[in-house]
Amino acid sequence: MTSEETRCMIERIGRLKKEKRAAVLCHNYQRPEIYEVADFTGDSLGLCQKAQNVDCDIILFSGVYFMAESAAILNPGKKVIVPAMDAGCSLSDMITVEALLEKKKEHPDAAVVCYINSTADVKAESDICCTSSNAVEVVKSMKEKKILMVPDKNLAAFVAKQVPEKEIIAWDGFCPIHERITASYLRDALKNRPDTKIIAHPECTDDVRDMADYVVSTTKMVEVARNDSAKDFMVITECGMVNRMKGELPDKNFYTVCSVCFDMKKNTLEGIERSLITGQHEVVVPRQVRERAYKTFDRMFKVSATVGITPQLMEMT
Ligand code: SF4
Repeated sequence: MTSEETRCMIERIGRLKKEKRAAVLCHNYQRPEIYEVADFTGDSLGLCQKAQNVDCDIILFSGVYFMAESAAILNPGKKVIVPAMDAGCSLSDMITVEALLEKKKEHPDAAVVCYINSTADVKAESDICCTSSNAVEVVKSMKEKKILMVPDKNLAAFVAKQVPEKEIIAWDGFCPIHERITASYLRDALKNRPDTKIIAHPECTDDVRDMADYVVSTTKMVEVARNDSAKDFMVITECGMVNRMKGELPDKNFYTVCSVCFDMKKNTLEGIERSLITGQHEVVVPRQVRERAYKTFDRMFKVSATVGITPQLMEMT
């Protein structure tokens, strides 16, 4: 598409949103042109909190499936649609509800903390949900000493280091996108850049996280770069994030060692326009699953509110 065609499509999507009373929630890893049609851009925690009170009839979620499912769990009265039904998450696919039930039998005294990157079924069988923004506080808040953390072993290892008083049993899942970024790639990228601060996502492996100055969720990445007096930052996560950081902090320099999540990139402006016209593809969570999964979110929100973690969202105009 030429830039003029893109501009026209963005305008058409803007008109469709008004006509259908639709809001577009966009994850930080989306293509930059999608930010242009988003009402809100943020990380999983910010978007799922926003999904609870956004004033609209339709939520179009530009992210991956579990995120739209989370919006549907939190908004039973609203229609939730996605542009690409096959935009999934390899990490969330690394656990099934049947396997979780088996594991719970092995550890009947453990509380189950599930990362938001999991299916509604898995959430329904968990005690509480967490995101990369609040995982440490969520685990600290549990009364049980033993915690079964699913499905990301890297996030679990990150939490275990900061909450040594808990016994963390990690599920053997991982995000293939973050796992692909190795410490040796990072060392190469840092050659001749001695003053560069490293910001990594908790889904990165131990050795990458150990090299980082900050290990934070995607939206928190913007905040730490804004508040740090350094000018140069190496951003270690999915490739889309660095575009957002460059856009928000044009006076700083951002470099990246990153990997592309092709599922995130299945969403396009064309797909968003088509979804708004046709009302497809609707994400529906069965009531029984939804009600149980909702409780895990509700507990997480209460912990977040108690420790003062506020949603990290950027309202787009
Ligand atoms: Fe899932 Fe990893 Fe893609 Fe995020 S980057 S959606 S965790 S596969």
